[in-house]
Amino acid sequence: MTSPSPSRSGADRCPGLLAPFVSADGAMVRLRLPGGRVDGRTVAEISSLATRYGDPALTLTSRGSLQLRGLPDPLPRALIDAIGDLGLIPSGDHDRARNIVADPVGSLDDLIAALDEGLLADPGLAGLPGRFLLAVAEPDGPALAEPWDIAIVDDGSAARVVVDGRATTVPRGQVPATALELARRFLAARVDERTWNVRDLPADLRVGLLPGGAPFVADPAGPPAPGALGDDLVVLVPLGLLTAEQAGALAGPRGPKPLRLTPWRSIVVPGGAGRAADVAATGLVTTPDSPWTVLTACAGSPSCARTDTATRDLARSAAAHLDPAGTPVHVIGCDRACGHPTRAHVTSLNPTSAADVVAAQHSSIRKA
Ligand code: SF4
Repeated sequence: MTSPSPSRSGADRCPGLLAPFVSADGAMVRLRLPGGRVDGRTVAEISSLATRYGDPALTLTSRGSLQLRGLPDPLPRALIDAIGDLGLIPSGDHDRARNIVADPVGSLDDLIAALDEGLLADPGLAGLPGRFLLAVAEPDGPALAEPWDIAIVDDGSAARVVVDGRATTVPRGQVPATALELARRFLAARVDERTWNVRDLPADLRVGLLPGGAPFVADPAGPPAPGALGDDLVVLVPLGLLTAEQAGALAGPRGPKPLRLTPWRSIVVPGGAGRAADVAATGLVTTPDSPWTVLTACAGSPSCARTDTATRDLARSAAAHLDPAGTPVHVIGCDRACGHPTRAHVTSLNPTSAADVVAAQHSSIRKA
C-alpha cells in the first residue's frame, strides 16, 4: 500500500469522500480494501471513528470491504483527515476502481498487493467502473463464485488470467501486468458509460479481449465455514455488522499478517485459532453450527426508505429458531434483494414476525 504524503491533508487525498452516498440514515463512506486485506489495528481505528461520528457498527460488504454509515452530511473534515491518515485511500482518483475480491488465504497476499500496485500506477485505470470486479483465487476457490470480470487463478509457479470464459497461462510474475492489460482492453472496448462489466459488452467485443484463450470453467468451492482453519480462525459476522468490541477482539497485536475480510461477511484471523473463545464472547460466530451461517438480511428500516420492515431486527428474532443445516434465508424489505448471497437461498420478503422468516426456510424444505 502506498503511504500517503504527509504534506497533504486527508481531504486533499480523498476527494471521493467529499461526495459520500447519502441514504435515509445519513452519509455512507465505503472503504475499499483490495482482497479484503487490512491490518487488525486499522479496523479497530476505523471502528473508533465510526463510533465517534456515526453508526457505531461497521458494515462488511459483499466485496470484502467496510462501510461507515449514519455519518453527518457533509462529512466532518476531521473524519476525512483521519481516514486519509490511515493510508486506506492512496489515490482518490483510483478509489472506485480498486475492487478486488480474493480467497482468504495468505498465499495470495503478494498477488493482490502487486495487482493493486499496478492498478494505482496507471492513471488510465482510474476510469474502470465502480462495478468492475477483479478476483484472485486458488483453483476452484470460493472467490470464483463472485460476479468477477477478470480473474486470476493461482496455480503455483504459473497462473491463469481469465476473462469471458477464456484463460491465458502466464508465469506468476507476469500475472498483474496481464490482468491489467485485459482491463485496459475492456476500457477501450466500452460502448458507453453504462458498460459497467465485461458481460455488458457485445459478444464480438468480449471475444476480442482475449483471442485464442483456452476455455475456462470455474467450479468454486463454498466459503470457509466458521471455526479453526489450521492455525487461522474463520469468524462469521452476524448481519455483517461489526461492533467496536468485536473489532477490538479481532485486532490482536499489529503484525505482518493482515486480517482477511471476505465477500461472505466473515473474517479470517491469521494465527487466531487459539483466540476463538475470546472472539465468540463478543457475539461473533466461530462454530459451523450457528444459525447465522444460513441467515442474512438487507439493511431494511430505518436505514432504507424503501421499506417499513425492520429486516435486521426480524432476522435477529428468528435466528434461534432456524435450522443451521437448512436452506439459507435472506430477509428483505423489497424485491431489490440488496446484499443477497451468491449461493442458493430463499428470500423472506417483508416478514411481519420471526415466524414468517422461519416459515420461509421451512417452505423451501417442503418444496425440496
Ligand atoms: S432490499 Fe429494498 S428494502 Fe432492503 S435495503 Fe435494498 S432497497 Fe432497501
